[in-house]
Amino acid sequence: METLTCVGCSATKPADQFHWRDGSKTKRRTKCKECSRAYGRAYKKKDPERWKSYERDRRKKQVAADPVGFRAAHAEYMRNRMRQKRQRVIAHLGGKCCRCGFDDWRALQVDHINGGGVAERKLARSSDALWRLVLADKDGKYQLLCANCNWIKRYENGEGCLIYDEEGET
Ligand SMILES: [Zn+2]
Ligand SMILES: [Zn+2]
Repeated sequence: METLTCVGCSATKPADQFHWRDGSKTKRRTKCKECSRAYGRAYKKKDPERWKSYERDRRKKQVAADPVGFRAAHAEYMRNRMRQKRQRVIAHLGGKCCRCGFDDWRALQVDHINGGGVAERKLARSSDALWRLVLADKDGKYQLLCANCNWIKRYENGEGCLIYDEEGET
């Protein structure tokens, strides 16, 4: 097996541990993937603005090279990320409906036990923001309800459709 020695960490590794230098796949980079990642992270921290513009350019090139494939891959990536985050939040809250014990994550929704304030409801329109609140919460303000129990609670509390809409995306 072909091996290369990394100029970053001086380790000798299999060639596939080194990124290709360009699209033509003839030359490998001089730093291993691990060192490239560390470099990227440091760069991002040091100069976030330049990092962003660099990432934008890189994405543009990828899109130009294969628009359809890129979109599909991106959609898939976002779906997976959403799903993982959602599952983490659900596990964090006990993994099942606190009223009836229903435990299929696809129909579980995050519920603010006391309805939450207006500002919080606004914030929570984006699932990401809500999930961050839930994961950071130390006072047990949130619980899991299945879609059925959630609707029933809304009627019981006369909340109608006022309570925040944490739509159950899959
Ligand atoms: Zn290295
Ligand atoms: Zn339930």
